Amino acid sequence: MTGKSHTDPAAKEFALSVMQYMNDKCAAWKAAEDIDYSLYGTPIESTTYKFAKCLQNRFGVIPGITDKGYITNSYHVHVSEPINAFTKLKFEAEFQRLSPGGAISYIEVANLSDNIPAVLTVMRYIYDNIMYAELNTKSDYCQVCGWDKEIEIVDDGRGKLIWKCPNCGNTDKSKMNIARRTCGRP
Ligand SMILES: [Zn+2]
Repeated sequence: MTGKSHTDPAAKEFALSVMQYMNDKCAAWKAAEDIDYSLYGTPIESTTYKFAKCLQNRFGVIPGITDKGYITNSYHVHVSEPINAFTKLKFEAEFQRLSPGGAISYIEVANLSDNIPAVLTVMRYIYDNIMYAELNTKSDYCQVCGWDKEIEIVDDGRGKLIWKCPNCGNTDKSKMNIARRTCGRP
């Protein structure tokens, strides 16, 4: 709407005012109808692809708007923007406050299984700065061979994606533990 990211100081206040406007609408509807309307900032992962496709069908490919295979939901900082984890969490916290129906923020990180102090630092930062956030890291275990690093997603040769232990080749989902989310909710 402004041609700028909401992380741009010139656009942030406008973005917050949009959030506030929607909250005010919910409050007005609530007062009028005695139904507790609320604003929900959802990550709704699978729908980002469906929405992106539908928008392209309807509006064509508009650079910077519908030119990706996904859309960015709610108040999230666009994944293509360079931003460090702490700045992102702090920034999104201001918007999360205006998503009283629910919200989650993410940071994507490298495999931190060898750097637990970094995980704890992020958790502490989440606890102190934002209502609900998580880091997406990998914490896997192959019950067949004891591999405790990343279990990979591979093509099974017939176009289907499957989990496979890179150490022993195990593809039996019932014999592996795969965790991709670490929640930071206090
Ligand atoms: Zn294995």
